[in-house]
Amino acid sequence: MNRRPSGYEPDELPGCSIPQKQSMKYWAQSQGSYYLFFGCCKYMRNLKLAYDNHYHTLTKARNRGRLQLFNRENSMAKLYFRYGTVGSAKTLNLLAVAHNYQQQGKKVLLIKPALDIRFGRALIKSRAGLAKEAHMLIEEGQRIVLPTEPIDCILVDEAQFLSSEQIEDLQKIASLGGIPVICYGLRADFKSECFEGSKRLLELSDSIEEVKTTCNFCDRKAIFNLKFIDNKATKTGPQVDLGAEEKYLPACSKCYHDFLESNKELSPSKTDLSL
Ligand SMILES: [Zn+2]
Repeated sequence: MNRRPSGYEPDELPGCSIPQKQSMKYWAQSQGSYYLFFGCCKYMRNLKLAYDNHYHTLTKARNRGRLQLFNRENSMAKLYFRYGTVGSAKTLNLLAVAHNYQQQGKKVLLIKPALDIRFGRALIKSRAGLAKEAHMLIEEGQRIVLPTEPIDCILVDEAQFLSSEQIEDLQKIASLGGIPVICYGLRADFKSECFEGSKRLLELSDSIEEVKTTCNFCDRKAIFNLKFIDNKATKTGPQVDLGAEEKYLPACSKCYHDFLESNKELSPSKTDLSL
């Protein structure tokens, strides 16, 4: 059975936002003998008898309490990067995925960079109003290690603010630790240049998905984050400048360049989307 759904690949169920750990291979040990069940036994008549005999032996052994079942985890999961502009509901998407996992009785680990203090240090909050406490805050320079407790999925908010090394840690947790890691974040800053974390995610992720939204000024797809200071578009200022007196709005390529190259003023009625 395919238990590893996610989106774009033939081995995954389409439209499912919550990837699962890879299925485990179960080995049985009984009184020094090992039995490995192959799915093909079900379909090959001449092997069916052997399969039944082994199953019977194992059932008897289990009943006698002498069967040891152990699993050998095929530890490989994927690193996902779900990117979008400001206002594309990335965090809402993250919270929905966390809710789905938890509803199925599965454990998620919510991570965010410590420098994102817009909604209080440990809060992951969407503009729609939903919020959850982050389980782990990543400080600058901190290495991310495999959690000791069993976790079904790691969800990372504002992943663009992580360093290359921290993204590499997450990739190792997915590929070597067998835990799916889904990172949400901006692809590029208001100067249309990649953040360090986003660049490494684009280089390393097994799956890259766009969380789409429309331009704030027309009906085309937004791909840029347009920064306004005093209602004028600008490309000045540091890449990370949280909490400053500025506005960020999603814009298509045409509107992005229109605003930057003209002296057009932003209408005061436009929604403020702080970065
Ligand atoms: Zn536009």
